[in-house]
Amino acid sequence: SARVLDGVAIAAEIKEEVGREVRSLAEAGAVPGLTVVLVGSDPASEIYVRSKVKSSAELGIASNLITLGVDTSQAELLGILQQLNEDDAVDGILVQLPLPRHIDTRAILEAVDPLKDVDGFHPVNVGRLTIGQESLVPCTPAGVMQVLQRSGIAVRGRDCVMVGRSDIVGKPMSTLLLNAGATVAVCHKETRDLREYTRRAEILVVATGVPGLITPDMVAEGAVLIDVGINRLDRREDVERLFPGNAAKLAAFDKRGSVLVGDFAPQSYLRSSAYTPVPGGVGALTIAMLMHNTVKAARMRRSLPTDVLEFA
Ligand code: NAD
Repeated sequence: SARVLDGVAIAAEIKEEVGREVRSLAEAGAVPGLTVVLVGSDPASEIYVRSKVKSSAELGIASNLITLGVDTSQAELLGILQQLNEDDAVDGILVQLPLPRHIDTRAILEAVDPLKDVDGFHPVNVGRLTIGQESLVPCTPAGVMQVLQRSGIAVRGRDCVMVGRSDIVGKPMSTLLLNAGATVAVCHKETRDLREYTRRAEILVVATGVPGLITPDMVAEGAVLIDVGINRLDRREDVERLFPGNAAKLAAFDKRGSVLVGDFAPQSYLRSSAYTPVPGGVGALTIAMLMHNTVKAARMRRSLPTDVLEFA
């Protein structure tokens, strides 16, 4: 039967390691600092930034939240980033996305010092990752690599399929798998016969935001399934369709008015050898990896070796 890959437990393990690294930096007089910048008041973004700031404070990172009005101009935001780039107490800078429409996201991401770019979205970090140099790696795909590694799932030489090609998840994920020695196919919305690819995958990573996209007929028996999708269903008929006969899910829906599901139809997990559940899988790793990146940034900027980290 399929093994459940427990993202919450793995994230807790990583946070404990990062906490130790924060303490050892603090003892050397260098408390790592993280500043999160939120523009506007998108409710989902507010929840994310609050949990990022709270988690980092819990680990002893000096965390700071800057909230700016939705009318903040691009020039003002660039000015703030300039100050943060120059502030020696700030090791990590994270600009929460999405930004309001009048701001050019690319220009903002490029204004963050690459050494402080804990989201790993700056072109310098994207480039360094591509050529296999040390860099700050986007948190969600880095978290998936930790799940695989810490669950003893080998990547080298395996046939991997990545569904989704976003700059945040799909592309960096496929690069990490490729760098780790996998053979990687990247599929997306324009892929003509998705099933033809997914059926061949020994490790199938899916990040599309389409609930239940991957059905059992698209999964090879014994594959490892990594579900990055986080989708909120708020219609009872959608829950019934994705979870036929699952009384517990329907009860959960009736209680809360919505349920979270991934990009795999739940029945496809049954064909796998191991899978990450939603919730409780990959989602739990993102913040842990942000904490890790903050410590890594603190060490890189002080020219301290990063190979002493429990993982680099
Ligand atoms: P995105 O919308 O930027 O990209 C989606 C990708 O999926 C695109 O490349 C698109 O081509 C592909 N796609 C869409 N429909 C498809 C289809 N029918 N067949 C094949 N490919 C299809 O999304 P994203 O930012 O990469 O996020 C993807 C999912 O991962 C979302 O559910 C998001 O909530 C989740 N996510 C989770 C975390 C986390 O775990 N912390 C982080 C980021 C994103």
